Amino acid sequence: MLPNIRIVLVKTTHPGNIGATARAMKNMGLNRLYLVAPTDFPSFEASQRASSAGDVLEQAVVVDSLQQALHGCAFVAGTTARLRNVTWPQLDARTGGERIFAESRQHEVALVFGSERTGLLNDEMELCQYLVNIPTSEEYASLNLAQAVQVMCYEILMASRAGMPAMKAEPKYELDRLASTEQLDGLYAHIFAAMQQFDFFGTRNHEQVMRRLRCLFGRARVSVRELQILRGMIKVAQGKRAPPRQKPKIR
Ligand code: SAH
Repeated sequence: MLPNIRIVLVKTTHPGNIGATARAMKNMGLNRLYLVAPTDFPSFEASQRASSAGDVLEQAVVVDSLQQALHGCAFVAGTTARLRNVTWPQLDARTGGERIFAESRQHEVALVFGSERTGLLNDEMELCQYLVNIPTSEEYASLNLAQAVQVMCYEILMASRAGMPAMKAEPKYELDRLASTEQLDGLYAHIFAAMQQFDFFGTRNHEQVMRRLRCLFGRARVSVRELQILRGMIKVAQGKRAPPRQKPKIR
């Protein structure tokens, strides 16, 4: 089993897709399914389509929001049929599968799939650090949800069989671990509050500014220690904390 990888389905409308996803996962050695506000679950149809992967459905974690599903993850990739003109780093299914597997050797990872009709919405995509696209014919790019899950789980399994090395050696100190999504969310909220306090936004589009900053920090892969430095700096700038006094130099 590939233990650190969550497959997250957002607002799935057809229970058959949930069942087929569970089967696709189990076939490829994955078993951690998260369901964000599914329309119809548990359901007979889902169980039927899961076939012998009923255990994956039984263990599925059902939550109300995508934030809850991503709690504790240090790497989040979203899948999309349409590559958008956004500044998000984008990977294809193969390199995405390799990256997800390599990251999962160090921390919790989530791979997120959008709802059948709309795909991932902008505010859902903003919670992802990377976007992954399965290459298709130009004529028709949108795969069935469970089939998209199947392709991605297959790529992750193949990457694991290829024995990809871990990204880096395990950090020695807890503080050198990568910040989790909720810790990063805390940073963004803090930056936003400070920018408002400093009247930074003015006529700027604050949503766009914040989206770009999310991209920046997503690319940078911030550790907990680095995040604490940033938040400390912002607090000092906000006048909420005195800067640490420098020790007098003794000559
Ligand atoms: N109508 C939506 C597609 C929704 S398909 C749109 O045009 O965006 C449901 C989900 O399946 C998507 O949100 C995505 O998670 C996945 N998916 C479908 N086709 C994909 C592709 N070519 N690459 C990556 N993911 C895909």
